[in-house]
Amino acid sequence: MAKKYIFITGGVVSSLGKGITSASLGFLLMSYGLKISIVKIDPYINVDPGTMNPYQHGEVYVLDDGAETDLDLGHYERFTGLTLSKKNNFTTGQVYYSVIRRERRGDYLGKTVQVIPHITDEIKRRIKEAGKDKDVLIVEIGGTIGDIEGLPFLEAIRQMRYDAGRDNCLYIHLTLVPYIKVAGELKTKPTQHSVKELQSIGISPDIIVCRSEKRLTKEAKEKIAMFCNVEKEAVINAVDVDTVYEIPLRFRKERLDDLVIKKLGITPKKEPDFTEWEKMVEAIKKPKDTVRIAFVGKYVGLKESYKSLVESFVHAGASLNLKVDLKWIEAEDLENDGFEELLKDVHGILVPGGFGPRGIEGKIRAIKYARENNVPFLGICLGMQAAVVEFARNVARLEGAHSEEFDKSSPHKVIHLAKKWEKDGKIIERDETSDKGGTMRLGAYPCVIKLSTLAYEVYKRKKISERHRHRYEFNNEYRDVLERHGLVVSGESPDREFVEIVELKDHPFFIAVQFHPEFKSRPLSPHPVIKMFVEKSYESKGSEKAN
Ligand code: GLN
Repeated sequence: MAKKYIFITGGVVSSLGKGITSASLGFLLMSYGLKISIVKIDPYINVDPGTMNPYQHGEVYVLDDGAETDLDLGHYERFTGLTLSKKNNFTTGQVYYSVIRRERRGDYLGKTVQVIPHITDEIKRRIKEAGKDKDVLIVEIGGTIGDIEGLPFLEAIRQMRYDAGRDNCLYIHLTLVPYIKVAGELKTKPTQHSVKELQSIGISPDIIVCRSEKRLTKEAKEKIAMFCNVEKEAVINAVDVDTVYEIPLRFRKERLDDLVIKKLGITPKKEPDFTEWEKMVEAIKKPKDTVRIAFVGKYVGLKESYKSLVESFVHAGASLNLKVDLKWIEAEDLENDGFEELLKDVHGILVPGGFGPRGIEGKIRAIKYARENNVPFLGICLGMQAAVVEFARNVARLEGAHSEEFDKSSPHKVIHLAKKWEKDGKIIERDETSDKGGTMRLGAYPCVIKLSTLAYEVYKRKKISERHRHRYEFNNEYRDVLERHGLVVSGESPDREFVEIVELKDHPFFIAVQFHPEFKSRPLSPHPVIKMFVEKSYESKGSEKAN
């Protein structure tokens, strides 16, 4: 059990930024030297978000241990720099699954198994487990107050006050204070209603964080304080900002950190220092120049499904004082004649990860264009697989080369399905009959980098570990022939079974990786491969000017 708990709920509407609020608070508390962790509870029935449509749900964020989680876990890791595990995210589905399994085993000795206490006990057990050895555990409850599916979680966190002690729990409620243009007024009524609803289930928020487009007036704050039963200082305004990384600094200005520390009776272990963070925020807000990178994907309209990658460009950009302007290109559009026009004005080309055959030929075309025109190129996961196919077809002249994923009858399956692999000392065999995972290589795997390669120049280390989420692999049967034609395998698994990084010589920057570097990028430590890609793209912008 943690020493202290902070529960974060949301009201009025969804998408207010509870995830960022939790992450920012985590960051602030850590800067006082506290040991914290964050848990996200998702009130849906799916057992893991990995099986959910990313276009409905946003990105599937992958952790070191292979857990496929909600994208909020990405915010937590990025803001706090912590490495989280599967204990940090659970769903209604998982909770019921554990209880029902226990019931089948006869653990309840024939008693009636009910939401209260059995489901709520399982929720509390998971919360306490995640809080083990921590000074503070932040618990974010997904969904919005008033949703039926959130009720067991709210009941569980209400009870936590009895389990952990009244002074050791803090309830923060995030709401929206809309601005009505015609009336020229900020409206506090939705907040009042939402708090009332929370109170009716026995939870009285200690702090209310109000999202608003315009700054809250003193009167609005006073009104909320009075009608929602909190002190004036406990109404915190989260006004819209230019970059999410500014939010912790705003919270600090509103003295949220002081308030939480006071209310929970915490003794800080050190003086916070935000200089580095402030510099990073400044760099994002006032870049010295821009660089344009083509983002060649599928459904690029749904940017939420590429969340971490987009953020990783913000991090890399900030460290170089550049704004990375992503030019979103629908891969299928590159399958038409005259596609070069779409790529002419970019300084670098990125082909990110993806699933499904749509647009694959467009991605291959973009890669060919980058290779032939010396445009800096980065391929990620599916992007690496497409780069290998492109090279096999157009350089090694292996006619009809393809990935088994898209063309099972290809005469040259340069990318194929791996049957088994090792994770953390255990052998995993592909289980095609399973409906819940076990079919993908997931989570962190080690990779060994060859000396005197671009990859080594990027990492400056021989051993790295990166996160994966894919089924298909480079087919080693083709390694010799592709290498003979100039493809450089610069990173591989320690047993040499899996090719992890490929690159080209005689090109300003051409590298493709089987893993997802974006999951390890942090605002103050951008991922080296993304950073160098941005740097080289910017150099190519410079040479364009010089010409
Ligand atoms: N679809 C490819 C595979 O499963 C690539 C996956 C990805 O890009 N994440 O191997």
